[in-house]
Amino acid sequence: MILIDGNKVAAEMKQEITEEVKKIINNGGKAPHLAAVLVGHDGGSETYVAYKIKDCEAVGFKSSLIRYEDYVTEKELLAKIEELNNDDDLDGFIVQLPLPKHISEQKVIEAINPKKDVDGFHPANVGRMVIGLPSYVSATPFGIVELLKRYKIETNGKNCVIVGRSNIVVRPLSVLMSQKAVNATVTVAHSRTENLEEVCRNADILIAAIGVPEFVKGNMVKKGAVVIDVGTTRVKSDLTKSGWKLKGDVLFEEVAEKCSYITPVPGGVGPMTRVSLLLNTLLSAKGEIYK
Ligand code: NAP
Repeated sequence: MILIDGNKVAAEMKQEITEEVKKIINNGGKAPHLAAVLVGHDGGSETYVAYKIKDCEAVGFKSSLIRYEDYVTEKELLAKIEELNNDDDLDGFIVQLPLPKHISEQKVIEAINPKKDVDGFHPANVGRMVIGLPSYVSATPFGIVELLKRYKIETNGKNCVIVGRSNIVVRPLSVLMSQKAVNATVTVAHSRTENLEEVCRNADILIAAIGVPEFVKGNMVKKGAVVIDVGTTRVKSDLTKSGWKLKGDVLFEEVAEKCSYITPVPGGVGPMTRVSLLLNTLLSAKGEIYK
């Protein structure tokens, strides 16, 4: 079994991005600029946004953090988005989800100019991706495909089963995995799928993205399969300083014995998600998506 090292691949990609930024600056250009909007004080969101700012610094991007308390109105937030849409110095920005219940996430997503939507959540970017046009692809699906590519894992003609059906991970990933560059035969399985265990056992590449810790057991995996664990659920732990640790959707000890490749949690898909956002911002700065 080969452990897929997302940290290592992400570090290589960060190095490549750093080199590109240096080139842009040496040619008289400006550093790519990413902004993040954070509403409220959700622990997970605080951590993710802090990582995003730190990642920008590491590759030489400029970054801005815009914070609101969780009582900010939808109108105020939409006005800020309009301002960011028109800020010529910004190459891209993200609004960290989830948002408080009184704010429509869909309205917020659709208010972002698709040209600056480096999260790739706007329907214009999702639609462009589906028909194979240049687009900002949502970070986690992009990162997973890149991991498979960099580990030279055969995807041509393989059965790929993805468990879950979220808009930010599973739907775009199912499209990417079936595109001509990847050529997998894709099944999307979810809570209403009959004989889920059997469907999973049929997978050459099994991807779990449901947020149920250790859901995928050894008996759900074909011998020699490639297993990608997207799940990251915070569970209580006495062993860490923070009092919690991350658990994946795969029962690692059982599954690792049967598969050919597996991503750990943490250190698998997560770092790839982070670096993919940087890559989208770089693509925006270089004007490579919307020419
Ligand atoms: P989500 O919106 O939380 O939805 C989970 C999906 O899983 C639902 O559509 C649900 O299907 C399905 N599901 C739940 N229980 C199931 C079961 N017992 N059997 C089959 N399907 C089941 O999904 P998400 O946002 O993609 O997040 C999924 C997990 O990935 C979470 O742990 C999240 O934290 C993690 N995540 C990690 C990264 C990363 O960078 N590593 C990025 C994004 C998300 P139904 O619609 O049928 O109920």
